[in-house]
Amino acid sequence: MGARWVLHLDMDAFFAASEQLTRPTLRERPVLVGGLGPRAVVAGASYQARVFGARSAMPMGQARRLCPHAVVLPARFTLYKELSSRVMSVLAEASPVLEPVSIDEAFLEPPALAGASAAEVERFCARLRADVRAATGLPASVGAGSGKQLAKIASELAKPDGLLVVAPDQEREVLGPLPVRSLWGVGPVAEAGLHKLGVRTIGELAAMDLREVHGLLGTAIGTELHRLARGVDDRPVAPRGAAKQVSAETTFDTDLTAMAAVHDAVARMTEAAHRRLVASGRAARTVTVKVRSADFTTSSRSETAGLASTDLGALTTVAQRLARSAVPEGGVRLIGVSLAGLTDDPPPALFEPAAGAAPEPVEVPEPDQPEEQPIADRPWGPGDDVTHPDHGHGWVQGAGHGRVTVRFETRSTGPGRARTFAADDPELTRADPLASLA
Ligand SMILES: [Mg+2]
Repeated sequence: MGARWVLHLDMDAFFAASEQLTRPTLRERPVLVGGLGPRAVVAGASYQARVFGARSAMPMGQARRLCPHAVVLPARFTLYKELSSRVMSVLAEASPVLEPVSIDEAFLEPPALAGASAAEVERFCARLRADVRAATGLPASVGAGSGKQLAKIASELAKPDGLLVVAPDQEREVLGPLPVRSLWGVGPVAEAGLHKLGVRTIGELAAMDLREVHGLLGTAIGTELHRLARGVDDRPVAPRGAAKQVSAETTFDTDLTAMAAVHDAVARMTEAAHRRLVASGRAARTVTVKVRSADFTTSSRSETAGLASTDLGALTTVAQRLARSAVPEGGVRLIGVSLAGLTDDPPPALFEPAAGAAPEPVEVPEPDQPEEQPIADRPWGPGDDVTHPDHGHGWVQGAGHGRVTVRFETRSTGPGRARTFAADDPELTRADPLASLA
């Protein structure tokens, strides 16, 4: 197998860009996405707002002071999820080994690129960016390198709307001058410790003696960070960002009292969990058995082996042994078996679907922010999607004093006109945010 190429694709200012896409008046303007309450934080900021220092996760009040002329809009997760699923479909088509890490970013390790030249990777990534833009209308940045850390740093350096492929012989040149804080796992404490030793850049960390790093950061983390600093990063791209465990459980119609029946049930649950394990292309190190007794007391027992396994017989033996020590007096109401400590098996680069197989749907992690709740009878608020029989789809720019101002536009209309109505105009009705994609 040739050299590894890991790609990291990250949408640029995803939430704000989605607003600018579907509300063309905003395209060149500073946009802040998020709430307006006293504790609200910025969920997204357009590049035009970032120029003034506004950032995601900053308190909204602070962002508005920095950028007072910004348009502030509530998040429309329905829209972002739709655009995200279009992005992930493009990525799934491009690479069966895909690990979505959030609504707008993912790692890929296309098997076709194993051993490829930097120029070939460059072409692949350029096409990927073009495909994402064609499917969504949105810009994405892509980074590529020999591991996840490098790919992620490269996509960050490529922003906005860029591409950076780091060839193996450029790794030190790219990583070296960056602050140590850019490495995963270097938090404020580790950073302060490194600064005390005069170590400020990744290059300086890479040049440190390993024993010195161990003394400062501990053996496990020190070894890992020292490797990352030197560009050594063999962490797998987890196919499809799959779950951390696979499990199966069942509740019995009548409580089990015989140990033989418990053993049979454990075997069946292990088999069901094992099917999911095999389907995910992984192996498990930890077996956990959960038992609920007739009086609803739940207990669980776990065992972790030194090596990950896909062997159904071995996993079942462990599960049955655990069940013996977990079974309560008086009957068993529920039995569950879960397999965790999952590792890739076979290695991701070898994990290719059969030729012509359609990509499976991709699970995208839920965003942290709560879903917006449309409330039918509240007054109009900025950012609401509306429709009018004569003017079509639009969004509320402002409301108050019995009036509401609506900008009528969607993705394809170009900048639209604003019109003002009485807030109770019966012709103005709430609309599906996805209609703004038309
Ligand atoms: Mg992003």
